[in-house]
Amino acid sequence: MTTTIHAYASPSADGDLAPTTIERRDVGPHDILIEIKYAGICHSDIHTVRGDWGPQPYPLVPGHEIAGIVAEVGSEVTRHAVGDRVGVGCMVNSCGECKNCRVGDEQYCVNGMVGTYGATDRDGTVTQGGYSTHVVVTEDFVLGIPEGIELDVAAPLLCAGITTYSPLHRWGAGPGKKIAVIGLGGLGHMAVKIAHAMGAEVTVLSQSLKKQEDGLRLGADHYYATSDETTFTDLASSFDLIINTVSARIDISAFLGLLTVDGALVNVGAPAEPLPVNAMALIGGRRSFAGSMIGGIAETQEMLDFCAQNGIGAEIEVIPAEKINDAYERVLASDVRYRFVIDASTFA
Ligand code: NAP
Ligand code: ZN
Repeated sequence: MTTTIHAYASPSADGDLAPTTIERRDVGPHDILIEIKYAGICHSDIHTVRGDWGPQPYPLVPGHEIAGIVAEVGSEVTRHAVGDRVGVGCMVNSCGECKNCRVGDEQYCVNGMVGTYGATDRDGTVTQGGYSTHVVVTEDFVLGIPEGIELDVAAPLLCAGITTYSPLHRWGAGPGKKIAVIGLGGLGHMAVKIAHAMGAEVTVLSQSLKKQEDGLRLGADHYYATSDETTFTDLASSFDLIINTVSARIDISAFLGLLTVDGALVNVGAPAEPLPVNAMALIGGRRSFAGSMIGGIAETQEMLDFCAQNGIGAEIEVIPAEKINDAYERVLASDVRYRFVIDASTFA
Protein backbone atom coordinates (compact mmCIF):
# COMPACT_ATOMS: atom_id res chain seq x y z
CA MET A 1 0.00 0.00 0.00
CA THR A 2 1.11 3.55 -0.71
CA THR A 3 -0.17 7.10 -0.33
CA THR A 4 -0.33 9.54 -3.25
CA ILE A 5 1.17 12.96 -2.55
CA HIS A 6 1.99 16.15 -4.48
CA ALA A 7 5.50 16.89 -5.72
CA TYR A 8 7.53 18.68 -8.42
CA ALA A 9 9.52 16.49 -10.77
CA SER A 10 12.05 16.90 -13.54
CA PRO A 11 10.84 14.99 -16.64
CA SER A 12 14.24 14.76 -18.35
CA ALA A 13 17.72 16.29 -18.41
CA ASP A 14 16.50 19.28 -20.41
CA GLY A 15 12.87 19.72 -19.34
CA ASP A 16 11.49 22.13 -16.73
CA LEU A 17 10.31 20.81 -13.39
CA ALA A 18 6.50 20.52 -13.21
CA PRO A 19 3.81 19.50 -10.71
CA THR A 20 3.12 15.79 -10.39
CA THR A 21 2.02 13.17 -7.88
CA ILE A 22 4.16 10.38 -6.45
CA GLU A 23 3.64 7.47 -4.10
CA ARG A 24 5.04 7.25 -0.59
CA ARG A 25 5.28 3.89 1.14
CA ASP A 26 3.17 3.16 4.21
CA VAL A 27 4.87 3.80 7.53
CA GLY A 28 6.73 0.63 8.54
CA PRO A 29 7.73 -0.22 12.13
CA HIS A 30 10.94 1.86 11.95
CA ASP A 31 9.63 4.60 9.63
CA ILE A 32 8.69 8.20 10.20
CA LEU A 33 6.19 10.13 8.06
CA ILE A 34 7.24 13.77 7.80
CA GLU A 35 4.99 16.61 6.70
CA ILE A 36 7.52 18.69 4.78
CA LYS A 37 7.44 22.42 5.50
CA TYR A 38 10.48 23.61 3.55
CA ALA A 39 12.90 22.18 0.99
CA GLY A 40 16.15 23.91 0.03
CA ILE A 41 17.45 24.09 -3.54
CA CYS A 42 21.02 22.79 -3.65
CA HIS A 43 23.22 23.17 -6.72
CA SER A 44 23.51 19.37 -6.58
CA ASP A 45 19.79 19.18 -7.44
CA ILE A 46 20.58 21.07 -10.65
CA HIS A 47 23.67 18.99 -11.49
CA THR A 48 21.61 15.84 -10.95
CA VAL A 49 18.44 16.66 -12.88
CA ARG A 50 20.44 18.10 -15.79
CA GLY A 51 22.45 14.89 -16.06
CA ASP A 52 25.85 16.47 -15.19
CA TRP A 53 26.68 13.43 -13.06
CA GLY A 54 25.23 10.77 -15.35
CA PRO A 55 21.85 9.37 -16.39
CA GLN A 56 18.92 9.61 -13.94
CA PRO A 57 15.68 7.70 -13.39
CA TYR A 58 13.18 10.33 -14.66
CA PRO A 59 10.71 11.62 -13.67
CA LEU A 60 12.85 12.66 -10.73
CA VAL A 61 11.79 14.64 -7.65
CA PRO A 62 14.90 16.40 -6.28
CA GLY A 63 15.38 17.88 -2.82
CA HIS A 64 17.73 16.83 -0.01
CA GLU A 65 17.44 19.77 2.35
CA ILE A 66 14.20 18.84 4.06
CA ALA A 67 12.68 20.37 7.19
CA GLY A 68 9.27 19.46 8.56
CA ILE A 69 7.14 18.02 11.33
CA VAL A 70 6.67 14.38 12.29
CA ALA A 71 3.12 13.36 11.30
CA GLU A 72 3.23 9.64 12.13
CA VAL A 73 5.71 7.15 13.58
CA GLY A 74 6.01 3.38 13.19
CA SER A 75 5.37 1.04 16.12
CA GLU A 76 9.09 0.55 16.89
CA VAL A 77 10.25 4.16 16.50
CA THR A 78 12.05 5.57 19.54
CA ARG A 79 14.09 8.51 18.20
CA HIS A 80 11.25 10.90 17.32
CA ALA A 81 7.58 11.49 18.18
CA VAL A 82 4.59 13.02 16.41
CA GLY A 83 4.94 16.81 16.36
CA ASP A 84 8.77 16.85 16.52
CA ARG A 85 10.65 19.30 14.29
CA VAL A 86 12.88 17.18 12.07
CA GLY A 87 15.12 17.25 9.03
CA VAL A 88 16.37 14.89 6.33
CA GLY A 89 19.51 15.46 4.30
CA CYS A 90 21.20 13.76 1.37
CA MET A 91 20.78 10.13 2.43
CA VAL A 92 17.89 8.03 3.67
CA ASN A 93 19.57 4.66 4.25
CA SER A 94 22.85 2.73 4.33
CA CYS A 95 23.84 -0.84 5.19
CA GLY A 96 24.56 0.01 8.84
CA GLU A 97 27.07 -2.83 9.07
CA CYS A 98 30.18 -1.96 7.05
CA LYS A 99 33.29 -0.44 8.63
CA ASN A 100 32.29 3.08 7.56
CA CYS A 101 28.68 2.86 8.77
CA ARG A 102 29.91 1.49 12.09
CA VAL A 103 32.03 4.57 12.76
CA GLY A 104 29.31 7.02 11.71
CA ASP A 105 30.51 7.63 8.16
CA GLU A 106 27.27 6.40 6.58
CA GLN A 107 27.87 8.71 3.61
CA TYR A 108 30.81 6.47 2.66
CA CYS A 109 28.89 3.19 3.16
CA VAL A 110 30.89 0.43 1.43
CA ASN A 111 27.64 -1.06 0.13
CA GLY A 112 26.42 2.32 -1.09
CA MET A 113 24.42 4.83 0.91
CA VAL A 114 20.92 5.43 -0.43
CA GLY A 115 20.54 8.97 -1.72
CA THR A 116 17.38 10.89 -0.87
CA TYR A 117 16.38 10.92 -4.54
CA GLY A 118 17.23 9.03 -7.70
CA ALA A 119 18.65 6.06 -5.78
CA THR A 120 17.42 2.50 -5.34
CA ASP A 121 16.36 2.03 -1.74
CA ARG A 122 16.99 -1.21 0.10
CA ASP A 123 13.37 -2.27 -0.63
CA GLY A 124 14.02 -1.91 -4.38
CA THR A 125 12.02 1.29 -4.95
CA VAL A 126 13.53 4.46 -6.44
CA THR A 127 13.79 7.27 -3.90
CA GLN A 128 12.08 10.61 -4.54
CA GLY A 129 13.19 13.76 -2.74
CA GLY A 130 11.96 16.72 -0.78
CA TYR A 131 10.23 18.84 -3.44
CA SER A 132 7.03 17.28 -2.14
CA THR A 133 4.51 17.50 0.69
CA HIS A 134 5.49 14.35 2.62
CA VAL A 135 8.30 11.84 2.90
CA VAL A 136 8.68 8.50 4.70
CA VAL A 137 12.18 7.86 6.08
CA THR A 138 13.63 5.22 8.39
CA GLU A 139 14.16 6.79 11.82
CA ASP A 140 17.97 6.46 11.82
CA PHE A 141 18.20 9.01 8.99
CA VAL A 142 15.87 11.60 10.53
CA LEU A 143 17.59 14.44 12.40
CA GLY A 144 16.15 16.57 15.19
CA ILE A 145 16.03 20.30 14.51
CA PRO A 146 16.78 22.03 17.81
CA GLU A 147 14.57 24.76 19.26
CA GLY A 148 15.92 28.15 18.32
CA ILE A 149 16.33 27.51 14.58
CA GLU A 150 13.28 28.19 12.42
CA LEU A 151 12.47 25.40 9.96
CA ASP A 152 12.95 27.57 6.86
CA VAL A 153 16.51 28.61 7.72
CA ALA A 154 17.24 25.11 9.07
CA ALA A 155 16.46 23.29 5.82
CA PRO A 156 19.74 24.26 4.06
CA LEU A 157 21.75 23.08 7.06
CA LEU A 158 20.86 19.49 6.10
CA CYS A 159 23.20 19.68 3.09
CA ALA A 160 24.99 23.04 2.80
CA GLY A 161 25.51 23.15 6.57
CA ILE A 162 26.88 19.66 7.11
CA THR A 163 28.96 19.67 3.90
CA THR A 164 30.92 22.67 5.16
CA TYR A 165 30.85 21.89 8.90
CA SER A 166 32.37 18.43 8.38
CA PRO A 167 35.64 19.46 6.67
CA LEU A 168 35.97 22.61 8.81
CA HIS A 169 35.74 20.45 11.93
CA ARG A 170 37.95 17.64 10.61
CA TRP A 171 40.70 19.97 9.38
CA GLY A 172 40.69 21.91 12.64
CA ALA A 173 39.13 25.30 11.90
CA GLY A 174 39.36 27.33 15.09
CA PRO A 175 41.16 30.20 16.81
CA GLY A 176 44.50 31.01 15.19
CA LYS A 177 43.58 29.28 11.92
CA LYS A 178 43.31 31.15 8.61
CA ILE A 179 40.57 29.74 6.44
CA ALA A 180 39.55 30.74 2.92
CA VAL A 181 36.23 29.91 1.29
CA ILE A 182 36.05 29.89 -2.51
CA GLY A 183 32.58 30.87 -3.81
CA LEU A 184 29.92 32.69 -1.78
CA GLY A 185 26.83 30.68 -2.70
CA GLY A 186 24.75 28.21 -0.68
CA LEU A 187 27.65 26.16 0.67
CA GLY A 188 30.07 29.09 0.75
CA HIS A 189 27.94 31.31 2.94
CA MET A 190 27.42 28.45 5.41
CA ALA A 191 31.19 27.84 5.47
CA VAL A 192 31.75 31.50 6.33
CA LYS A 193 29.22 31.48 9.18
CA ILE A 194 30.41 28.17 10.63
CA ALA A 195 34.15 28.87 10.35
CA HIS A 196 33.59 32.28 11.98
CA ALA A 197 31.61 30.66 14.82
CA MET A 198 34.46 28.15 15.28
CA GLY A 199 36.76 31.12 15.89
CA ALA A 200 38.82 31.03 12.70
CA GLU A 201 39.95 34.04 10.65
CA VAL A 202 37.85 33.80 7.49
CA THR A 203 38.55 35.10 3.98
CA VAL A 204 36.09 34.91 1.09
CA LEU A 205 37.49 34.37 -2.40
CA SER A 206 34.66 35.33 -4.76
CA GLN A 207 34.62 36.03 -8.49
CA SER A 208 33.94 39.73 -7.82
CA LEU A 209 33.43 42.16 -4.93
CA LYS A 210 29.65 42.34 -5.58
CA LYS A 211 28.76 40.45 -2.41
CA GLN A 212 31.56 41.88 -0.22
CA GLU A 213 29.24 43.71 2.17
CA ASP A 214 27.21 40.54 2.74
CA GLY A 215 30.31 38.41 3.19
CA LEU A 216 31.66 40.68 5.92
CA ARG A 217 28.26 40.80 7.62
CA LEU A 218 28.04 36.98 7.58
CA GLY A 219 31.32 36.71 9.48
CA ALA A 220 34.19 37.01 6.99
CA ASP A 221 37.20 39.05 8.10
CA HIS A 222 38.49 39.66 4.56
CA TYR A 223 37.05 39.52 1.05
CA TYR A 224 38.94 39.28 -2.24
CA ALA A 225 37.99 39.05 -5.91
CA THR A 226 39.57 36.16 -7.80
CA SER A 227 39.12 38.09 -11.06
CA ASP A 228 41.87 40.41 -9.74
CA GLU A 229 45.22 38.72 -10.38
CA THR A 230 46.93 40.54 -7.51
CA THR A 231 44.74 38.47 -5.14
CA PHE A 232 46.92 35.47 -5.95
CA THR A 233 50.17 37.30 -5.24
CA ASP A 234 48.89 39.20 -2.18
CA LEU A 235 47.59 36.03 -0.52
CA ALA A 236 50.34 33.57 -1.56
CA SER A 237 51.18 30.96 1.13
CA SER A 238 48.75 32.38 3.67
CA PHE A 239 45.94 29.90 4.47
CA ASP A 240 45.88 26.78 6.65
CA LEU A 241 42.73 25.54 4.99
CA ILE A 242 40.79 26.40 1.85
CA ILE A 243 37.27 25.08 1.25
CA ASN A 244 36.36 25.11 -2.45
CA THR A 245 32.57 25.30 -2.89
CA VAL A 246 32.56 26.22 -6.59
CA SER A 247 30.17 24.25 -8.82
CA ALA A 248 32.30 24.77 -11.95
CA ARG A 249 35.87 24.05 -13.01
CA ILE A 250 38.42 26.48 -11.56
CA ASP A 251 42.23 26.62 -11.63
CA ILE A 252 42.93 24.54 -8.51
CA SER A 253 46.70 24.90 -8.85
CA ALA A 254 46.44 28.68 -8.56
CA PHE A 255 44.47 28.30 -5.32
CA LEU A 256 46.90 25.69 -3.94
CA GLY A 257 49.53 28.42 -4.09
CA LEU A 258 47.57 30.28 -1.41
CA LEU A 259 48.16 27.48 1.13
CA THR A 260 50.85 27.61 3.76
CA VAL A 261 53.21 24.63 4.29
CA ASP A 262 51.08 21.61 5.30
CA GLY A 263 47.92 23.47 4.30
CA ALA A 264 44.97 21.66 2.74
CA LEU A 265 42.52 22.58 0.02
CA VAL A 266 39.34 20.57 0.52
CA ASN A 267 37.04 20.32 -2.46
CA VAL A 268 33.34 20.11 -1.77
CA GLY A 269 32.26 21.63 -5.09
CA ALA A 270 31.36 18.85 -7.51
CA PRO A 271 31.66 20.03 -11.13
CA ALA A 272 31.04 17.52 -13.90
CA GLU A 273 34.51 18.13 -15.35
CA PRO A 274 37.82 16.88 -13.87
CA LEU A 275 39.91 19.38 -11.87
CA PRO A 276 43.52 19.07 -13.08
CA VAL A 277 46.25 19.76 -10.52
CA ASN A 278 49.84 20.81 -11.13
CA ALA A 279 52.03 18.53 -8.95
CA MET A 280 54.42 21.44 -8.31
CA ALA A 281 51.67 23.33 -6.54
CA LEU A 282 51.38 20.45 -4.06
CA ILE A 283 55.00 19.44 -3.54
CA GLY A 284 56.19 23.05 -3.24
CA GLY A 285 54.58 23.32 0.20
CA ARG A 286 53.80 19.76 1.36
CA ARG A 287 50.21 20.69 0.58
CA SER A 288 47.16 18.43 0.39
CA PHE A 289 44.27 18.43 -2.05
CA ALA A 290 41.33 16.57 -0.54
CA GLY A 291 37.61 16.04 -0.93
CA SER A 292 34.70 15.65 1.43
CA MET A 293 31.10 14.54 0.97
CA ILE A 294 28.32 15.75 3.31
CA GLY A 295 28.81 14.17 6.77
CA GLY A 296 27.58 11.26 8.87
CA ILE A 297 24.27 11.20 10.72
CA ALA A 298 25.69 11.76 14.22
CA GLU A 299 27.91 14.53 12.85
CA THR A 300 24.89 16.13 11.17
CA GLN A 301 23.08 16.22 14.52
CA GLU A 302 26.24 17.70 16.08
CA MET A 303 26.24 20.39 13.35
CA LEU A 304 22.56 21.22 13.96
CA ASP A 305 23.23 21.56 17.70
CA PHE A 306 26.31 23.72 16.99
CA CYS A 307 24.26 25.98 14.72
CA ALA A 308 21.49 26.31 17.33
CA GLN A 309 24.02 27.19 20.03
CA ASN A 310 25.62 29.81 17.79
CA GLY A 311 22.42 31.26 16.35
CA ILE A 312 23.29 30.08 12.84
CA GLY A 313 20.74 29.51 10.09
CA ALA A 314 21.00 29.94 6.34
CA GLU A 315 20.33 33.26 4.58
CA ILE A 316 17.34 32.35 2.48
CA GLU A 317 14.85 33.50 -0.12
CA VAL A 318 11.58 31.55 0.30
CA ILE A 319 9.83 30.81 -3.00
CA PRO A 320 6.65 29.03 -4.09
CA ALA A 321 7.04 25.81 -6.08
CA GLU A 322 6.11 27.52 -9.35
CA LYS A 323 9.36 29.56 -9.13
CA ILE A 324 11.67 26.52 -8.99
CA ASN A 325 12.74 26.76 -12.64
CA ASP A 326 13.49 30.50 -12.30
CA ALA A 327 15.45 29.79 -9.13
CA TYR A 328 17.54 27.17 -10.98
CA GLU A 329 18.50 29.77 -13.61
CA ARG A 330 19.44 32.24 -10.90
CA VAL A 331 21.60 29.68 -9.07
CA LEU A 332 23.37 28.87 -12.36
CA ALA A 333 24.05 32.60 -12.81
CA SER A 334 25.52 32.85 -9.25
CA ASP A 335 22.54 35.09 -8.46
CA VAL A 336 21.51 33.55 -5.14
CA ARG A 337 21.59 35.19 -1.72
CA TYR A 338 22.23 32.62 -0.45
CA ARG A 339 19.81 29.70 -0.65
CA PHE A 340 16.40 29.32 -2.28
CA VAL A 341 14.00 27.46 -0.01
CA ILE A 342 10.67 26.18 -1.33
CA ASP A 343 7.54 26.61 0.80
CA ALA A 344 6.21 23.03 0.69
CA SER A 345 2.58 24.16 1.15
CA THR A 346 2.76 25.32 -2.49
CA PHE A 347 3.33 21.80 -3.85
CA ALA A 348 -0.29 20.85 -3.19
P1 NAP B 1 25.87 27.72 -5.48
O1 NAP B 1 24.90 28.25 -4.47
O2 NAP B 1 25.57 27.85 -6.92
O3 NAP B 1 27.29 28.36 -5.14
C1 NAP B 1 28.43 28.15 -5.94
C2 NAP B 1 29.24 29.45 -5.97
O4 NAP B 1 30.43 29.19 -6.70
C3 NAP B 1 28.57 30.59 -6.69
O5 NAP B 1 27.70 31.33 -5.88
C4 NAP B 1 29.77 31.42 -7.11
O6 NAP B 1 30.22 32.20 -6.01
C5 NAP B 1 30.82 30.37 -7.40
N1 NAP B 1 30.91 30.05 -8.84
C6 NAP B 1 29.93 29.56 -9.64
N2 NAP B 1 30.37 29.39 -10.90
C7 NAP B 1 31.67 29.78 -10.89
C8 NAP B 1 32.68 29.82 -11.89
N3 NAP B 1 32.44 29.45 -13.17
N4 NAP B 1 33.91 30.26 -11.52
C9 NAP B 1 34.16 30.64 -10.26
N5 NAP B 1 33.23 30.62 -9.28
C10 NAP B 1 32.01 30.20 -9.59
O7 NAP B 1 26.07 26.15 -5.26
P2 NAP B 1 26.04 25.29 -3.91
O8 NAP B 1 24.67 24.76 -3.72
O9 NAP B 1 26.73 26.03 -2.85
O10 NAP B 1 26.93 24.03 -4.35
C11 NAP B 1 28.28 24.22 -4.74
C12 NAP B 1 28.88 22.94 -5.26
O11 NAP B 1 28.99 22.02 -4.18
C13 NAP B 1 28.04 22.24 -6.33
O12 NAP B 1 28.92 21.67 -7.29
C14 NAP B 1 27.35 21.14 -5.55
O13 NAP B 1 26.96 20.05 -6.34
C15 NAP B 1 28.42 20.77 -4.58
N6 NAP B 1 27.96 20.08 -3.38
C16 NAP B 1 28.77 19.13 -2.88
C17 NAP B 1 28.43 18.48 -1.70
C18 NAP B 1 29.37 17.49 -1.10
O14 NAP B 1 28.93 16.65 -0.31
N7 NAP B 1 30.65 17.57 -1.40
C19 NAP B 1 27.23 18.79 -1.07
C20 NAP B 1 26.44 19.78 -1.61
C21 NAP B 1 26.80 20.43 -2.77
P3 NAP B 1 30.82 33.70 -6.22
O15 NAP B 1 29.74 34.44 -6.95
O16 NAP B 1 31.03 34.16 -4.83
O17 NAP B 1 32.07 33.57 -7.00
ZN1 ZN C 1 23.08 19.42 -1.50
